[in-house]
Amino acid sequence: MNAYLERVLAETKQKNINEPEFLQAVKEVLTTLEPVIDTHKEYEGIALLERMVEPERIITFRVPWVNDEGKVIVNRGYRIQFSSLIGPYKGGLRFHPSVNQSIMKFLGFEQIFKNALTGLPIGGAKGGSDFDPKGKSDNEIMRFCQSFMTELYRHIGQDVDVPAGDIGVGAREIGYLFGQYKRIRNAYEGGVLTGKEVCYGGSLARTEATGYGLMFFMREMLKAHNNSLQGKTVTISGSGNVAIYACEKAVAMGAKVVAMSDSNGCIYDENGIDLDLIKQIKEVERGRIKEYLRVHSSAKYIEKTGDDSPVWTIKTDIALPCATQNELTLNSAKILVENGVIAVGEGANMPCTQEATDYLLEKGVLVAPAKAANAGGVATSAIEMSQNSMRFYYTFEEVEAKLEQIMINIFNSCKIASDKYGCPANYVAGANIAAFQKLAKAMRSQGIV
Ligand code: NDP
Repeated sequence: MNAYLERVLAETKQKNINEPEFLQAVKEVLTTLEPVIDTHKEYEGIALLERMVEPERIITFRVPWVNDEGKVIVNRGYRIQFSSLIGPYKGGLRFHPSVNQSIMKFLGFEQIFKNALTGLPIGGAKGGSDFDPKGKSDNEIMRFCQSFMTELYRHIGQDVDVPAGDIGVGAREIGYLFGQYKRIRNAYEGGVLTGKEVCYGGSLARTEATGYGLMFFMREMLKAHNNSLQGKTVTISGSGNVAIYACEKAVAMGAKVVAMSDSNGCIYDENGIDLDLIKQIKEVERGRIKEYLRVHSSAKYIEKTGDDSPVWTIKTDIALPCATQNELTLNSAKILVENGVIAVGEGANMPCTQEATDYLLEKGVLVAPAKAANAGGVATSAIEMSQNSMRFYYTFEEVEAKLEQIMINIFNSCKIASDKYGCPANYVAGANIAAFQKLAKAMRSQGIV
């Protein structure tokens, strides 16, 4: 490998030895940049890569709150303000017990590249807490969100840092967070959070955007290889925001979705998933996916027992990991390939392990990388911010049309970069290179900051 890249990787590893997810994300990006770095010797002199892998600011804070039994609980809050290079810090908030600094930093780092690919003026950030929303009452969720925002508010703003949702943070949580921010600031600053409900400043089609965007990218990728979604079998991991709307669009594009999952197991319905029922269980009742069988008793439920998700053992043409990081391992990739998979679309962030991605690419499977393929969510968040600034609403159709065009542009950027730099059909490398070129140019323009 290029000596400069090798040195930066080694130093990053040494400085962040206890952060495996962050190191994985950095390695995945840097190892694909070799052809660009080779032609820009001047980057080393201005420590361009060293600055790119170091967050501008890391904020951690205490989040005390009182549960329904009157007990005081203390969680830890995070906001990683990774890069403000091309716009205000922008990225979601994740509430999940697994949240730690390594996961926050990997997500923040990925976000810089993803946001650059959208072509919109947004920097990269991520935040969240090790708070577990599962099983909590509405009042507990509200008290937690209010306490979280009571600290976070001093670090964010519509021109400074604009959080949104992620795992465990949907419209309900954004509502409680926004209410508390507005109360503290004594001002309506609509653009400070995205993913708001439409009745108080949200954008139509934001809820659907990540899943729909994933399918627009998948359609373009298949089209470039003379294929389509028509008549294809699809399996999806997760049954949250991204998974549900990927499923909806996949069906609208002529595919048949036969499996979805949650962290306990997966359902397989050979007749095609009943998405209205999934929405009822997950969006309304906040229940477990197993409950699908109460209506469709002929469907199968496979409990998750080991590390690998059972959803990848089901035969499929297209696999869409839409749950969480490192959920699709080398072992699962081998089963998918044996079963004839033609494409994998990453709805979640870094859902394939590095070994799984390498194996899929080696076997000629098309991989739609998360940074590009799930960028529709943040792109629509930026459209929400622009509507807030204009004090205006676009229709659903207008937002969806903008989203579709953005996803087409992102695919084209990935394709052009992968063709130009000698790795045709490797859209993982294409996405990294296309985003990096834009960021590197902006870094050079702005001097040593
Ligand atoms: P949700 O909280 O709505 O849904 C998450 C889904 O993934 C649930 O079905 C959940 O199951 C499952 N899941 C979560 N953690 C695990 C785990 N450790 N093992 C197995 N299953 C798990 O989140 P989103 O749909 O918003 O996010 C999903 C992924 O997409 C994340 O990687 C997120 O970063 C990424 N993403 C989201 C965007 C958005 O706009 N929402 C934008 C871009 C990326 P259970 O309920 O059992 O926990």
